[in-house]
Amino acid sequence: MARSGYQWTTNTFLKRAMDALKLEEHYETLLVMPRREVRVELAIRMDDGSLGNFIGYRIQHDNSRGPYKGGLRYHPKADIDQVRSLASLMTWKTAVIDVPFGGAKGGIDADPAKLSVLELERLTRRFVDQIHDFIGERMDIPAPDVNTDQRVMGWFFDQYTRHHGFAPGVVTGKPVALHGSLGREAATGRGCLIAIREVLAAAGETVDGTSFAVQGFGNVGSWFARLVHAQRGKIVAVSDVRGGVHAGDGLDIPKLVEHAKATGSVVGFTGATPITNKELFAVDCDVLVPAALGHVIDENVAKDVLARYVLEAANGPCTVHGSDTLEQRGILCVPDIWANAGGVTASYFEWVQNLQQHRWTEERVNEELELHVVQAHRRIRETMARFGCSMRTAAFVLAVERVKAATDLRGIG
Ligand code: NAD
Repeated sequence: MARSGYQWTTNTFLKRAMDALKLEEHYETLLVMPRREVRVELAIRMDDGSLGNFIGYRIQHDNSRGPYKGGLRYHPKADIDQVRSLASLMTWKTAVIDVPFGGAKGGIDADPAKLSVLELERLTRRFVDQIHDFIGERMDIPAPDVNTDQRVMGWFFDQYTRHHGFAPGVVTGKPVALHGSLGREAATGRGCLIAIREVLAAAGETVDGTSFAVQGFGNVGSWFARLVHAQRGKIVAVSDVRGGVHAGDGLDIPKLVEHAKATGSVVGFTGATPITNKELFAVDCDVLVPAALGHVIDENVAKDVLARYVLEAANGPCTVHGSDTLEQRGILCVPDIWANAGGVTASYFEWVQNLQQHRWTEERVNEELELHVVQAHRRIRETMARFGCSMRTAAFVLAVERVKAATDLRGIG
């Protein structure tokens, strides 16, 4: 395995936790290796009559604590190394936040920006056709991730029912009108807000008056920015794939959301200075929030970070050396497996509602989300004190302890 790939990063963080717990060697096989890997060829008819060929993956990492669970990513760089790493992170995330799921992830190496809506729909339906026997309400439950949204989840649900009959719990993040949950769309951003609020509170600080720079203005980044803004936090910089904007006094987030909706990007927002994605990482602020892709903070980026906290809203945004550099510089890195677990927590609530054919109010979703994120923070802090370790290692230790307990109790057979 390359000593720089996504899997290597996740496994290095995991290994640190396993070493802290002094686990016997055979757990490396039990806890590191994915249980099942599905790779499918996806041939679809393009609008111009030509044939489009794509590769899809579903990696099922661990199901000792419950059905496999994890998002679907459509991205040209979604390869097996990245999806394996993301599947493993899901196992540790569901364990840290304490929802009864395991971990999985899926991906297709497609760039949705280059596909028409009909091509995207055909691709999604073809993917379901190829993997439907490996997923299910009680087996493996996908969800949205980068470049997939409610609409894609709606097609996914519909195509699955053509094979297996009505089963809304087979996928989460569906539109509310199609068995989705109130509060799910904002949940990852909301969970990130609760996480940083707790971290700030532990240092005697508040969101009100704290400044943030956010990379990524999709589902997670834009909801996080909106919720922070509503709590009088100051968002001083935001970026997306096309570039970024900066305003030292704080951006008008509701107006920026409107601008991004109308133009497809934060770029060109009036009343702000244009910045590059690279410059965003070195912006003067209290909290840096990577909310786009993985491995964006390596040691070179980390040495220029001015923020006091890095909140990992994205999955795997730090390389090992990036994370270590932040730690050496005294910057507290709030790890992804806790920071962005609000999404999978609300996905769990959606699944529960689907199985019970019962709808929760948005207040109930938000209240229960709050309980999970706050409780996990308490347990992570206790673990940090117990092992004298970083917040990341503590989160992994807590997760590994829970997954190991379930694995031991089930037995190997
Ligand atoms: P999204 O597709 O809605 O948004 C992604 C954003 O990142 C967009 O604004 C896009 O322009 C930007 N982006 C893409 N490439 C970029 C680049 N090279 N430089 C700068 N910006 C770039 O995706 P999302 O659902 O918001 O997911 C964002 C991150 O959060 C991912 O790492 C994902 O795995 C993680 N995450 C998502 C959820 C969820 O519920 N959606 C849950 C947990 C974690």
